[in-house]
Amino acid sequence: MSEVGDLLQKLIRLDTTNPPGNETLAAELLRDYLEAAGVECQLYARVPERANLVARIPGRGSGPTLALLSHTDVVLADANDWERDPFGGDLVGDTIWGRGALDMKGEVAASAVALATLAREGWRGDGDLIFVAAADEEVGAGFGLQWLVEEHPDAVRADYSVNEGAGDRVELGGKVLYLCATAEKMSSPFVLRVHGRAGHAAMPSIADNALVKAAPLIERLGAFEVDPRLIPEVEGFLAALLGEVPSATDALARAREIAPLAGELIEPLLGMTVAPTKAHASDKRNVIPAVCEITVDTRLVPGQTPEEAEATIRAWLGEGDYELVNIERFGGTRSAIVGPLWDAVQSFVEAEEPGAAPAPICVAGFTDSHWMREAFDTVAYGFFPSREMDSETAARLIHSANERVPVSDLELGVRWLRHAAQTVCG
Ligand SMILES: [Zn+2]
Repeated sequence: MSEVGDLLQKLIRLDTTNPPGNETLAAELLRDYLEAAGVECQLYARVPERANLVARIPGRGSGPTLALLSHTDVVLADANDWERDPFGGDLVGDTIWGRGALDMKGEVAASAVALATLAREGWRGDGDLIFVAAADEEVGAGFGLQWLVEEHPDAVRADYSVNEGAGDRVELGGKVLYLCATAEKMSSPFVLRVHGRAGHAAMPSIADNALVKAAPLIERLGAFEVDPRLIPEVEGFLAALLGEVPSATDALARAREIAPLAGELIEPLLGMTVAPTKAHASDKRNVIPAVCEITVDTRLVPGQTPEEAEATIRAWLGEGDYELVNIERFGGTRSAIVGPLWDAVQSFVEAEEPGAAPAPICVAGFTDSHWMREAFDTVAYGFFPSREMDSETAARLIHSANERVPVSDLELGVRWLRHAAQTVCG
């Protein structure tokens, strides 16, 4: 068994289901492994059972710092749904099974092996190489990277970081692209509150039914369309796919012409998206509601503000007896698609698979990367390449039953993280 596969099996066998987490189990295993290779380690814990591990290979000079970010907690696994023990870490053929194999103990193991092998070889960069194995990413209750950034900024500050988020290999019309997440959309949900007048349901004509008044507004939201615009991530993606950047109005058709998947990838990135998802009106069958509340899931492209989104939605709905209230704003950060880390992604992809190219992508969800971008202006990418397992299979297995990872993809990941350290830290 390879070193990275062996370490992953051990990590899977530690139950770090969050909640409650118990990530100290993983932090201690990683510390023992890394210290044996001569790497400095430190545990940081808000509560003893939920430790974060930070390991460091200090640089010789003042070159850039690269942080390999990951999380050691996993989501719940119901053994009844699995063909194998989710905490067994079984090796079947060349594939390791278990909760966290993809999300993301595989990358945790690959990062640790990258540091350990570099340390054993006596490698040191000009800048520091850091490995952060954080707790509590899946719930985000303030024990993990957010807490580290706030309480121990000197331990995790970095110029560049590599995290989960993408790395998928996609074949689009004969062109092979490796997706690199350089940006994340902002989640900015609204509540649409429609006003009417209450009354007894036995006499509808004397009331003004807010639920009925909401219906055409919901329908209008369901038909929401914006003028497409090209953000830098989509321009970069289209340039990699087509060799040129078409106009915003042609972008979707041009991408679909190459492959339906290319269209699916860029469609939600051409502007904000709006989707009514929850409705609440009367609590009583016989009372006509005075108010109807519609929750509207809204995702903005990086750089857009909730205020701008509110104006856009109001213009789309027109005048009416309603209020529109923004209830949250989260994420929406981006990093530049130029510089040493981008160059490292590009040179790695070209060397691993001649003819393939990296392509930037803005992802709809968010990862711990946004804490680094917000606190330190870190150039943070989500990139952990996979080649043997296709991205559709991986997407189906994450947070689901029978999660597993081919050992060859873990080894590809180790090569990538070593390459990133050696090129970025100088
Ligand atoms: Zn994850």
